[in-house]
Amino acid sequence: MSGWVRVAGLGPGDAALVTPEVTAALAEATDVLGYVPYVGRVAPRAGLVLHPSDNREEIARAHHAIDLALAGRRAVIVSSGDPGVFAMAAALFEALEARPEAQALDIRILPGITAMLAAAARAGAPLGHDFCAINLSDNLKPWSEVERRLRHAARGGFAMAFYNPRSRARPDGFARALAILREECEPARLILFARAVSTPDEELQTLPLSDATPDMADMRTLVIVGNEDTRQVGRWLYSPRKVAP
Ligand code: SAH
Repeated sequence: MSGWVRVAGLGPGDAALVTPEVTAALAEATDVLGYVPYVGRVAPRAGLVLHPSDNREEIARAHHAIDLALAGRRAVIVSSGDPGVFAMAAALFEALEARPEAQALDIRILPGITAMLAAAARAGAPLGHDFCAINLSDNLKPWSEVERRLRHAARGGFAMAFYNPRSRARPDGFARALAILREECEPARLILFARAVSTPDEELQTLPLSDATPDMADMRTLVIVGNEDTRQVGRWLYSPRKVAP
């Protein structure tokens, strides 16, 4: 029997936002690997081995999945949201670079609904024009690089989606990000805090940048800063499709 690896996105939380393709892969899997809370979202069944692990163990997890597939097993690595967005798909290819014997393996990345798109849809259409996504965690890149990209994105006129606004290791990071945004953007610029989107804990809050405080974000929050045209219509937030010449 030939083994395979799938890297699957479980979406932002709601089971209705898991794609049928991901559901089918999980039904065929012999092994599911991933960060503890994500593996916890997969229903146990006879014949399925669950391998929950810590969130700092991405590379070890990727090698484990490769080993399982080489042994003929069907391994699904699960991520929240989309596996290609600040998640396990890149970690798998990083591991694969060191494993020439595994490079012919049957590997597929199964997309999911990333937090940014789920949050934007809840709020309206804040990403209706050009936008970018930035990971505010400095685990894998120096803070100076986070800061540089933040300034360039703001100066480039993009709406910006921020993942990992707060990390336990660096509780003051988001305060520094807000300070930079205040230097680069006007005080009335709209900012959205979307917490635990599509779960029972969901909370959304839109306010001007001048009123935002660091404690409005935590590890379960996706932050969107609009571009200078982003505005509110009724209870919705949107970025118009046209940009003035
Ligand atoms: N691969 C994931 C992102 C992993 S990084 C994806 O595509 O969504 C983890 C960060 O994603 C969190 O710190 C938070 O910023 C964001 N996030 C994940 N799920 C979320 C949700 N349901 N609501 C709001 N933000 C979420």
